[in-house]
Amino acid sequence: MQKNDVVEVWIEDMGINGEGIGKVDGYTLFIKDTVPGDMVEAKIMKAKKSYGYAKLIKILAPSDGRVKKVPCPVARKCGGCQIQEMAYEKQLEYKEGKVKENLIRIGGVPKELLERTMEPIVGMEESGKLGAPFHYRNKAQFPIGTDREGNPAAGFYAGRTHSIIPNTNCLLGVEVNEKILGIILAFMKKYGIKAYDEKQHAGLVRHVLLRYGFKTKEIMVCLVINADAVPHKEELIRDLTGIEGMTSITLNINKEKTNVIMGRSIQLLWGKSYITDYIGDVKYQISPLSFFQVNPVQTEKLYSLALEYAGLYGAGKMARDAVVWDLYCGIGTISLFLAQKAGKVYGVEVVPQAIEDARNNAAINGIHNAEFFVGRAEEILPEYYEEYAKNHGGEKACADVIVVDPPRKGCEEELLRTMADMQPERIVYVSCDSATLARDVKYLRGRGYEIERVRAVDQFPHTVHVETVVLLGRK
Ligand code: SAH
Repeated sequence: MQKNDVVEVWIEDMGINGEGIGKVDGYTLFIKDTVPGDMVEAKIMKAKKSYGYAKLIKILAPSDGRVKKVPCPVARKCGGCQIQEMAYEKQLEYKEGKVKENLIRIGGVPKELLERTMEPIVGMEESGKLGAPFHYRNKAQFPIGTDREGNPAAGFYAGRTHSIIPNTNCLLGVEVNEKILGIILAFMKKYGIKAYDEKQHAGLVRHVLLRYGFKTKEIMVCLVINADAVPHKEELIRDLTGIEGMTSITLNINKEKTNVIMGRSIQLLWGKSYITDYIGDVKYQISPLSFFQVNPVQTEKLYSLALEYAGLYGAGKMARDAVVWDLYCGIGTISLFLAQKAGKVYGVEVVPQAIEDARNNAAINGIHNAEFFVGRAEEILPEYYEEYAKNHGGEKACADVIVVDPPRKGCEEELLRTMADMQPERIVYVSCDSATLARDVKYLRGRGYEIERVRAVDQFPHTVHVETVVLLGRK
């Protein structure tokens, strides 16, 4: 197989980045924008020894799993969605399959055990007319640039470049975003306010950050600028406050030559410096720099499941006074959920600002049985364990339940070892990468824990990402 060869190929599988996979005479091809079941014509762009990358030229016969019409006209160019061409049920099937396969292949979990313990993936309900769940993100960050006619534009970066393809109607975001961006772009045009130009390190507006409270309907607008002020701000405020729900208008100052989006300092232009939203009954204050889960509807399902798996209302020892650890706790979303049903919750998180938010969120909800530590989970927990033994005449620190929600790289072995040493009844593992989840499950199964329940949750429809919750019980 050589570069520029054109081949006909049947797509039989999907790779981890959502690209279709097919074989021609035993030679594997990765082909973006194809889905399993498609028969396609493709051109080879890059040929390695045993595999290559090809470009879709023509769909010869579409798969049953393909949607009739891809809702977003720029889906292929944008790359923000990787699998919008796939019907939503097929997306769910693919995600569940991926989790299962990783647990078996990487985690060495017996197939029969999974068949017994794995529950059907939790999909998102569709809302609106698009035939699949869209408009689920409560946060959008639009880069601002200049289009070919020299007008300010908002959109997304083309491929791996930093040139902007205009698009103010991203279907993953809420519909009001388009109106807000329209106001900001018209304002910039009227006063000749320039978009930031990376190469020259000149111009004013770099990004627009938008957030929306799904339950409260509160809107936040934050302009990231390369200066300390915006000219004619009164007019901008007047136009933006015409939008129902406008709650917070701020500037974020970022004068650095960097591709980090947000700077450190925030200036309040109008209203409050934060918006409020809920996950379940727990209230959160969200400022421009806060982390917050982007799909609150599915997050509520995911964390309710984690709470259910934690079994805090169960019989026997799992009474209200259970001691629970929430490792990688972020702004404490899971901790505060658990705190409503536990005796004591300890949260651990490495980002100090997130812990400040977690403490504040505990306070505004009147939750007093959650305590938070800043630091690496793999350092804090082992240190706590050692100190405890020293101060208690060798007696070991115990926990009833340990919840972990690590980033993609999963948990350090040092942490897993201490977790097992603490002998919790249950370990609830929330994962955003089923490959590292599988690796960690393998370790815990070797330390006296067994899978009792597993369930994938789709937090990010149309992307390849999938969350998984696993309950491991002590044997
Ligand atoms: N459940 C959290 C989100 C977890 S995302 C919430 O709802 O807010 C994973 C979190 O782990 C991030 O907040 C990240 O900052 C944190 N993190 C990354 N590495 C860490 C480590 N070694 N120790 C503790 N926290 C870590």
